[in-house]
Amino acid sequence: VDMRLAQGTSMTITPIRTMMNHSTTQIFFDDLRVPAENLIGEEGQGFRYVLSGMNAERILIAAECVGDAKWFIAKATAYAKERVLFERPIGQNQGVQFPIARAYAQMRAAELMVREAAAQYEAGGDVGPEANMAKLIAADASWFAADMCVQTFGGFGFAEEYDIERKFREARLYQVAPISTNLILSYLAEHVLGLPRSY
Ligand SMILES: Cc1cc2nc3c(=O)[nH]c(=O)nc-3n(C[C@H](O)[C@H](O)[C@H](O)COP(=O)(O)OP(=O)(O)OC[C@H]3O[C@@H](n4cnc5c(N)ncnc54)[C@H](O)[C@@H]3O)c2cc1C
Repeated sequence: VDMRLAQGTSMTITPIRTMMNHSTTQIFFDDLRVPAENLIGEEGQGFRYVLSGMNAERILIAAECVGDAKWFIAKATAYAKERVLFERPIGQNQGVQFPIARAYAQMRAAELMVREAAAQYEAGGDVGPEANMAKLIAADASWFAADMCVQTFGGFGFAEEYDIERKFREARLYQVAPISTNLILSYLAEHVLGLPRSY
C-alpha cells in the first residue's frame, strides 16, 4: 500500500523511544484495504516469502554483530596497549589480555558460521538452521566483546565521548531482536534435534 495515503486513516505509526538510536515505531492497522493489483508473488504464499526474508535478515544481523565484535576488539586492543598503569600497559596483564583474546576467538567462530549461512542461502537451500545459529553465535560474540570492552576501558567505558557505552547498549539488542535467543534455541531443539515442541 501507499503508506503516505494509508497513514492517519487505516494505518497509525507512532514512534517509541528506545535505549538506542533506532527509529523504532509501533504500527496499528484498522481495516486497511490492500488493492488486488498490489499482490506480490503468488496468493497464499505470503508467509513462506516472509520466512525466507527472515532467514536473510538473520544472516544480515549476524554479519552486523560480527562487525560490532570486531569494533569492540579493536578498541579494547588499542586501549590495552596505550593505557599505562604501574609502569606497564594494562594489556601486558593476562587478566586483561585473555578476555580480548577470547572475544577474538568467538568473533572468528561466528564469522565462519555467517559465511557458511550466506553461502547456503545463495545456493538456494534450506538455510533455517545455519541462519539461526549464525545469529545466535554472532549475537553472543558481540555481547561478550561489548562487555569485555567496557571492562578494558574501566571508568572511561562509561564516558559518552569514547562511544563504548553507546555501542554496548546497541549490542544488547541482538539477544532479543530480530529473534530472541530462547526462540532460536527452541527452533534448534525442535527442528534440528527432534526434541518435543515446547510451546
Ligand atoms: C529496537 C527494536 C527494533 C525492532 N525492529 C523490528 C522490526 O523492524 N520489525 C519487526 O517485525 N520487529 C521488530 N522488533 C521486534 C522484535 O523482533 C521482537 O521484540 C522480538 O522478536 C521479541 O519478541 P517480543 O518483543 O514479542 O518478546 P516476547 O515474545 O514477548 O518474549 C519476551 C521474552 O520471553 C521469552 N520467551 C517467549 N516465548 C518463549 C518460549 N516459548 N520459551 C522460552 N522463552 C520464551 C523471549 O525469549 C523473551 O526473552 C524490534 C524490537 C526492538 C527492541
